[in-house]
Amino acid sequence: MNKTDSLIFLFAAFLLSGIHIPNEGKLMNAYSKLKSLERDYGISIYTGNFSASSYAATNAEWDFLDESDSLALLEFTNILAKEWRKYPKDWVVKSNLMAIALVKNLSVNGQKRFAIPDAFGEVLYYDIGYAHYGENYICHSIHHEYYHMIEENSFGTMYYNDPYWISLNDVNFNYGPGGAAAYGDDNFAASLHPLSGFVTGYSTYGIEEDKAEIFAFLLMKNSYLALEEWASSDIILKNKVVYMREFIQNEVILMDSAYFSFIHGF
Ligand SMILES: [Zn+2]
Repeated sequence: MNKTDSLIFLFAAFLLSGIHIPNEGKLMNAYSKLKSLERDYGISIYTGNFSASSYAATNAEWDFLDESDSLALLEFTNILAKEWRKYPKDWVVKSNLMAIALVKNLSVNGQKRFAIPDAFGEVLYYDIGYAHYGENYICHSIHHEYYHMIEENSFGTMYYNDPYWISLNDVNFNYGPGGAAAYGDDNFAASLHPLSGFVTGYSTYGIEEDKAEIFAFLLMKNSYLALEEWASSDIILKNKVVYMREFIQNEVILMDSAYFSFIHGF
């Protein structure tokens, strides 16, 4: 076998192994990535059975993952690892997060949910079965839902009626009835920068959603660029972004503008 033949053989072997990775191999790949996240951030990541806090057990329902979920788990793990590594360890330590629970068929009161922040058990639940929503939705929601826990950790409630934040809005603006109400109104909820001061329609449903949306926009490159552009001519939004950036940097000093430029590759 000459050198060219060897390369062709190796390439063919690689292709075949790519097509026929056994479930066990996929699982091992996902587990090793999750183990690295656990080690690097000092958290647990549940992929099987675990005991839930009474808050989660009372308010939510889900199914634990099993071996049939290995491909979905691998796909979700690739996205989670990429997004999670945008956070420095200090940010995660300060948030008091204890664990991430990867589950399926997650719901609250029969309403399907991609994620549930259990701010009392300090566990963030993600449903790995949302690949059909697209990677952008999953990445955005990973950060958005985590922010709800950060809000509770910093202000004692996920629904903090932050007076300074409210003062930034137009005096005639009132928030809607909370994020849960948006689930029947997908078109408006998904609309981008629908009015001054708000990155999405969903932001208008509640102050907690408004803050979580801006946080998530800061963590994703394309959203970050859109946010910068909108804020250049929207003073309400600009002030909210300044507030959020200061809040973040107040928690972890290294998370300044240069840090965000770094994680977005600018
Ligand atoms: Zn939310």
